[in-house]
Amino acid sequence: MVFKCQEDSYIKEFCSTVINCEPTNESIIEYGKASKFEGYQIILENTILFPAGGGQPHDIGWLNNTEVVQVIRKGEDAVHFTREPLEVGTNVTQRINWERRFDHMQQHSGQHLLSAILENEQNLVTTSWWLGAYESYIELDSTNVSPMVLENTEKRCNELIREAIPVCVKFCKADDPSLDVAHTRGLPKDCTEIIRTICIKGVDENLCCGTHVSNLSQLQSIKLLGMEAGKKGKTNVRFLVGNRVLGVFQSMLDREKALTGLLKNEPSKHEELVQKLQKNLKITNKNLQNVLSELAQFEVDKIKSTNPTPMYVFINKKEATPEFNRIICKGLEKEGTFVFSCSEETDRPKEGQIIVQGLQIY
Ligand SMILES: [Zn+2]
Repeated sequence: MVFKCQEDSYIKEFCSTVINCEPTNESIIEYGKASKFEGYQIILENTILFPAGGGQPHDIGWLNNTEVVQVIRKGEDAVHFTREPLEVGTNVTQRINWERRFDHMQQHSGQHLLSAILENEQNLVTTSWWLGAYESYIELDSTNVSPMVLENTEKRCNELIREAIPVCVKFCKADDPSLDVAHTRGLPKDCTEIIRTICIKGVDENLCCGTHVSNLSQLQSIKLLGMEAGKKGKTNVRFLVGNRVLGVFQSMLDREKALTGLLKNEPSKHEELVQKLQKNLKITNKNLQNVLSELAQFEVDKIKSTNPTPMYVFINKKEATPEFNRIICKGLEKEGTFVFSCSEETDRPKEGQIIVQGLQIY
């Protein structure tokens, strides 16, 4: 079945009738993380709420005032998960959480564009993709991807976004000869009868069940975040599209502002200042170690010079290092003095070290 959301991704409100409602305890899966759920599964005659599929997460929204927390595809049906039941035969107004849906449209259409440019211009084929809560990635069928390739690809994608190229949805039968030019990447196994193709005019045609923007200009921009080795023979390229680019840019600005406040200098000096701080910290730590070692030797000499030699000593030094304890124990090992020493880890306040040393009694 072709759902209303697949015919037109921009419908934000739609009326339909409840045709089935039954209790469920199936899990909710949100960006790959499952959580327990108890409620109802509702099927409607048609829906504008996209059921998860083809790499795109599900929509959320409302049926009248009843919240929809997940939509999944079961065979030909889109199943809406709600906490309250709705009576079969009821006409409901569906409303969509548009902010979330439009974000998914930007990431998904951005992925089509990115994969198309990498394949058409760099001969790098996408084998998988993932839309995450914060960033997305495509998996390329190669381990030979240079930073220059990514730089050129990002530039090319943003050029095409500025050219405001139309994106359209086509429907055809599985045996339609025009399908020869389309890729099968990302096609769900249960899409067999009516085939849906997403066309970026003059750039790409791709079989897909997801919801897409109608023009590349709606992507605003694409930013590639970097790449890392993936599964055997693969490379994962991380990316952001549209509002996510602005969101991440804002949080980077906030972090930079906080660092400027702490380091009391302009952002271009941050790296240099942190390097200086790290160097100074290393020297300070080394000096502290030396002072503590000297202090340990001083403690040993003081105990040894006491007459008579004490039967036991108790040392509680918060900042004592393993080297401090070693000097104490080594220095008193032949004196017959019972040593009980404890210290605290500087970075883990509730953890520490206790050392007990004494003569073995037979
Ligand atoms: Zn797709």
